[in-house]
Amino acid sequence: MPLIGVDLGGTKIEGIVLDGLAPRQRVRVATERERGYDHILDRIAEVVAALRPHAPDAAVIGIGTPGSISARDGRLKNSNTTCLNGRPLHADLEARLGVPVRLENDANCFALAEARHGAGRGHEVVFGVILGTGVGGGIVVRSQLWSGPQHIAGEWGHHAIDPAGPECYCGRRGCVETMLSGPALEARHRAAGGAAVSAAEIAARAASGDAIAIAVVEDYVDRFGRALANVVSILDPAVVVLGGGLSNLGILYGPGREAVARYVFNDELRTPIVPNALGDSAGVIGAALLSTAP
Ligand SMILES: [Zn+2]
Repeated sequence: MPLIGVDLGGTKIEGIVLDGLAPRQRVRVATERERGYDHILDRIAEVVAALRPHAPDAAVIGIGTPGSISARDGRLKNSNTTCLNGRPLHADLEARLGVPVRLENDANCFALAEARHGAGRGHEVVFGVILGTGVGGGIVVRSQLWSGPQHIAGEWGHHAIDPAGPECYCGRRGCVETMLSGPALEARHRAAGGAAVSAAEIAARAASGDAIAIAVVEDYVDRFGRALANVVSILDPAVVVLGGGLSNLGILYGPGREAVARYVFNDELRTPIVPNALGDSAGVIGAALLSTAP
């Protein structure tokens, strides 16, 4: 049966009808978040109304969003679309759309999509990682999302690994996100005397022998290894799937993997660390899959 999924982003809202493995119908609208909370609800309702004729029997609608969703009352926290924070988004969406909604953060949607339809297929436990503007993670066990009773499972981005590290918006210091996000890598490159360039450009400069970029990338890879090894030592996933803009850095799959092996609580690392298979569509596909059993 065709499913409806919606990915609520800071700049665009994307909806799909998912039929089997393939997104069949796509709708994209601008979020226009500067127009406020009620406007965003209206925009989501427009997307769902446009998709509805292609999936008339979808009884539940899956929606992915940045930020974390309170297990207690469904309110949103830590979203970069700040007008959503503190609002009962889940209840308001159900009231506006007139159907049950499953709401999950975008890293969980990514992990679910990759586990069922992407690079994690066939693996019993999948740890899905987002390395982008922020750092997130999601855990899928036997094709089902494990979000935990407090709805924080997989949130390795806020493991504090250096008490003297940079301040994080969550109120602590030295969180993984403050070291492994794209903006964090770019900031370290500037602090080391490098130019204000993108993460991809820093990696390219390191590959072509630039001394500053090499030092910054080696440091990044080492922290990646330390942070991910902590997760692997607890969860021991069958596979780790990387997503987000920085998952395009090839260095993570060679030296990055070796760094994880250095820090993991084992004399070898057998865990595959692989790039995602679904690209930018993983989030919205995962949102659609929220409404189904595997
Ligand atoms: Zn933090």
